[in-house]
Amino acid sequence: MKNILLLGATGSIGKSVLSVISQNKDKFNLIGIAFNTNISIAQKIINDFLPKYVHIDDHDCFIKQTDNKNLSFMSGDSNLENLIKLDEVDIIVCATSGFAGLKAMYFAATTGKKILLANKESIVAGGDLIMPLAKKYNSNIVPIDSEHNAIFQCLSGENATEDVQKVIITASGGPFLNYSISDLENVTLEEALNHPNWSMGNKITIDSATLVNKCLELIEAKYLFDLDEQIFQLVVHPQSIIHSIVTYKDGSSICQMSAPDMRVPIANGLSESNRIPISFDELNFTSLNLSFQEFPKDRMEIQNIARQICNNGSNYGVVFNAANEIAVDSFINGQIKFSKIYEVIYRTFNKNNVSNDLSLDSINDIDKETRIEAKKVVKSISN
Ligand code: NDP
Ligand code: MG
Repeated sequence: MKNILLLGATGSIGKSVLSVISQNKDKFNLIGIAFNTNISIAQKIINDFLPKYVHIDDHDCFIKQTDNKNLSFMSGDSNLENLIKLDEVDIIVCATSGFAGLKAMYFAATTGKKILLANKESIVAGGDLIMPLAKKYNSNIVPIDSEHNAIFQCLSGENATEDVQKVIITASGGPFLNYSISDLENVTLEEALNHPNWSMGNKITIDSATLVNKCLELIEAKYLFDLDEQIFQLVVHPQSIIHSIVTYKDGSSICQMSAPDMRVPIANGLSESNRIPISFDELNFTSLNLSFQEFPKDRMEIQNIARQICNNGSNYGVVFNAANEIAVDSFINGQIKFSKIYEVIYRTFNKNNVSNDLSLDSINDIDKETRIEAKKVVKSISN
């Protein structure tokens, strides 16, 4: 029996992880959860899975509203670190959204445990800090972002990444597939949140609509697989059936396919020597109609920023990520139009001088400073 600590338990990935656990109760036990504010979902998880530990910063409020006498409540960063480092915890799932997930990844990287990584922002912002730490402490980071889990599966069993010629990361294209930048001028929040294939949290759904998600994923992939940026190609595949493709130097291309359901990469991430059984929608190969198209040319500027970050280091990723988080929040709050998300990113990115210090404190400082800059840009262009 493996004990799972689920960070971001009340979110969309959290829900999929819980579904995989509940289908495999003989193999996995939910020992702890962490979340931010969503008390009603957390209470249901506690009732259904009986975890021992709950991490929530505003725990007084939670305790007042609930009657869970047997639970250990924790709050604050040092208790998050203690929780992650408990001997009882075997597997840590990092599924907090946004930059807020970085500190947990930082603590997790030093444990030598298995880490299921959904929180791409922590690698975009902290790849140069986290990856060497994970290597030093022998922590096993297994990606559960669908594209990265696909690459992970396509690479497994191979001796060396030097045999890899190309890695194709697929993108659904989101709700605005085939829209040009000018078509995006007047799209609404409701339209942007209406993803055709995936049901996800709001932030990643907007990232998917702008295609910034794919740029974050390019940086994430560069760090996770330690491959040159030029090896990666971003390709639009509207059906979201092939989650990524690895082409080897002998001419073979290996891909991973499944219906778009995050429980598939999560089950793969949890598997050891055997695959974890789950219920899933089988692909009907005789009716599949798969298509591919180029990443839109009018989004090359944003892709080039991601490629620049791959080559210049993750402190530039901190700036990119923070600018994007502020831009997405500002769009969701109605302060800027959808198409202005790009402008906030470009203007903020070009303004910042980035330090080479790779400490967590420095990353936090760059993040804070960038958010201030990005908010100024938002103010200057807001509706
Ligand atoms: P959601 O918004 O659905 O859930 C986010 C989770 O993080 C919630 O549990 C939320 O708690 C918690 N959280 C947010 N901020 C904080 C904070 N400051 N402190 C503690 N907990 C916090 O996001 P998703 O599940 O969609 O995404 C999670 C991560 O996984 C993201 O990095 C995303 O990019 C990545 N990912 C998601 C995919 C998906 O299909 N959803 C696919 C691939 C990657 P609360 O509910 O209380 O606010
Ligand atoms: Mg993805």
